[in-house]
Amino acid sequence: MGVIAQIALGVLAISFFTFVALFGRNPSLRHTPIAWLYRAMWVTIPSAILAVDGRLTGGRFTAWMGRTSHFIMYGRHPTVLIFFVALLAGGEYMFLPGAWPRMAAMHRFCGSVAIALPYMFLWLSARADPGTVTAETHARWMAHYPYDFALFHPGHRCRTCGLLKPARSKHCGVCGRCVHKMDHHCVFINNCVGYGNQHFFILLLLSTAVLTAYGACVGLALVSENVRRRRPEYSLWKPSCPKSMGWSEWLVLFTLGVQEDVGVGSVTLLTLMTSPLVWGLLAYHVYLIYCGTTTNESMKWQDWQAEMDEGCAFKRAMPADRPKNPDVEAPRTRWPVLPVQVLVRTEDGRPPAAAFGPGVGEWQRVWKLRDVENLYDIGFVDNLTDVFVPNYSFRDEVPPPAMDGNGMTSDLERGRRKAKTRKPKVSAAASLVNAAT
Ligand SMILES: [Zn+2]
Ligand SMILES: [Zn+2]
Repeated sequence: MGVIAQIALGVLAISFFTFVALFGRNPSLRHTPIAWLYRAMWVTIPSAILAVDGRLTGGRFTAWMGRTSHFIMYGRHPTVLIFFVALLAGGEYMFLPGAWPRMAAMHRFCGSVAIALPYMFLWLSARADPGTVTAETHARWMAHYPYDFALFHPGHRCRTCGLLKPARSKHCGVCGRCVHKMDHHCVFINNCVGYGNQHFFILLLLSTAVLTAYGACVGLALVSENVRRRRPEYSLWKPSCPKSMGWSEWLVLFTLGVQEDVGVGSVTLLTLMTSPLVWGLLAYHVYLIYCGTTTNESMKWQDWQAEMDEGCAFKRAMPADRPKNPDVEAPRTRWPVLPVQVLVRTEDGRPPAAAFGPGVGEWQRVWKLRDVENLYDIGFVDNLTDVFVPNYSFRDEVPPPAMDGNGMTSDLERGRRKAKTRKPKVSAAASLVNAAT
């Protein structure tokens, strides 16, 4: 087997096992060899290694492995970031000497921009403050989003930071701080993805996806040019080749074309394998924006779905003119809508007492996520605006808050919620995708 065939096989195997490791738990793949392989990868083989290690070293080797992988995945250090930069730079170092002299001026310009952008957005998303909640920023974040009384309730204090948690914030155990609109902690940028840098993170995904796809297209064109020098009738699109050319001949010719320039050929194969993963991750994050949610919140919605499946979730109406306690809630936020419901769970599956919790009226059992409102979904365009325009005020004018006799603030504005009923959609792959980033 030639060197190129070995590299191709290696890249193919790594991509396949990455796919199994990330998506093997997906319910749609149940009872398929992928699910069996997933189980072997995460359950059978680790327990076998554990058993052997227990006999040989008394479990010291697996303990060391556990500590190392925990350090890599959950420690705050730039190991994975450096690996990512090395992968980008190494690929370009192998690809460009062979490709650059053969590229037209237009491709040289577009290629330079495509190469520069991922570095720029990587630097910006790693450097930017993701939205740290501190004593100084607290009031600003509190006035950003209202509490939805489903995923986020007023009055909760972070046990580590000691501050009241603004709606949509979460404490990051890796960074040791609360982050506003926390999505997840990403080891590739060695930073949290939150309100302050989610736009840079999306642009990093987009620019990396474009770079890998562009590299694959240019690389494939050069490989096919290599082959056509020997066989002018060759085409990468197999049906356009002469009928007499079988699949094996087509593949041998392709391998020869790859072999002619090992640098261009192997990087082309690498981009072909990795590009779908990056596009998939980008599509997932755009889908989260479409749903008006985050990776963190989509997992919370999954927990609510489990409660609903067991019949333990109840909702009732939240009046628009409810009095707010200014000690735990901002009198006004820049968000255009207010909560219309309260969502609670009970241990025994019986409706809570009428006096229990906020809201008014009868408690209704909820079976489906689509029967509850997601307060943070105000339509795709506005959700995008919220991501890409920092501190955008969704309210047309901000009148001073009206104070009633008790010093409580009333807020009657219902905002400009779109007519469509939105449901918090969640993806089963959420936690898996989160683990991948
Ligand atoms: Zn905290
Ligand atoms: Zn973090």
